[in-house]
Amino acid sequence: MRFVDEYRDAKAAEQYARAIARITTKPWTIMEVCGGQTHAIVKFGIDQLLPEGITLVHGPGCPVCVTPVELIDKAIEIAARPEVIFCSFGDMLRVPGSHGDLFAAKAAGADVRIVYAPLDALKIARENPDGQVVFFAIGFETTAPANAAAVYQARQQCIGNFSMLVAHVLIPPAMEAILDSPSNRVQGFLAAGHVCTVMGYTEYEPIAETYAIPIVVTGFEPLDLLQGVFMCVKQLEQGRAEVENQYNRAVRREGNRHAQNLIREVFEVVPRKWRGIGEIPRSGLRLTGPYGEFDAEQRFGVANYAAEEPSECISGLVLQGAKKPHECPAFGTRCTPETPMGAPMVSSEGACAAYYRYRHSAIST
Ligand code: SF4
Repeated sequence: MRFVDEYRDAKAAEQYARAIARITTKPWTIMEVCGGQTHAIVKFGIDQLLPEGITLVHGPGCPVCVTPVELIDKAIEIAARPEVIFCSFGDMLRVPGSHGDLFAAKAAGADVRIVYAPLDALKIARENPDGQVVFFAIGFETTAPANAAAVYQARQQCIGNFSMLVAHVLIPPAMEAILDSPSNRVQGFLAAGHVCTVMGYTEYEPIAETYAIPIVVTGFEPLDLLQGVFMCVKQLEQGRAEVENQYNRAVRREGNRHAQNLIREVFEVVPRKWRGIGEIPRSGLRLTGPYGEFDAEQRFGVANYAAEEPSECISGLVLQGAKKPHECPAFGTRCTPETPMGAPMVSSEGACAAYYRYRHSAIST
């Protein structure tokens, strides 16, 4: 298959669903890690095609959703400074901090700009040598190479008025944290294909072995997801726990070594707090060595912030697959895309946003 439409063929999807039903003899709970996969599943009704015993639960792979409240507070504090041009992906502007969001900061006069890539922010820094340009660097391993490249270039080109507020998180430690939880119900993973295009999948092999859990690197189209579920169920039914690659048109076992080297040059691995989940060891990235001077937290003196998360938002449970979005009492009533209480209702990859967009009318009738 060469084109996207071929991965959305309804007849082929039904055949896959029937094949999954044929091999399923017991109930299984499988987590798709990535928010992009969640949106495809909910949008195309993949979960509704599956036999009753197969439950898909949604994972923490939405970078906007897991950015902790205090980092939003830091972003707002930095953006409010008169010399600062604060650059961010659009999704982050509506994510609530303790007392508002970046959108409100912009409305109050802060120079907050939406960009589509970190190099856009670097360009703004070149064009505004008298200002301080800060890029809000969120994301998983997928966006880390581009962000590393921007800082690398800033250093090479001596662009001293550029810095990054880094919120990078890493997927494998989050999967381990989910499996370590006493309330874990995940028996198999669909790993995020785009993360593996960068990192490969050798990191998942010890997880599969240690926790005796199948992990299938999976793409984002309906047939990718159905094939990923089929491969995962097959392993579960056969009592195997291996890493398999459904997304082999994009992913190699070793990943992209050049991108990995760039990440290692610019970042170091640190503990990181995840919104709704808490601190996970070795689950984040921080600028390191000579690149530390581009760290906006240090430059603007906001490193030691603490903040409480709103108690009514159960996003931590949603992000760990313990609850579905519509099981949140605030879903669709007090929490909507217009009045979000948590990041998963705002982000284009958030599970709550997916359910609101594609299932809300069915859920509320
Ligand atoms: S529906 Fe809103 S309040 Fe509930 S978990 Fe999702 S984001 Fe949080």
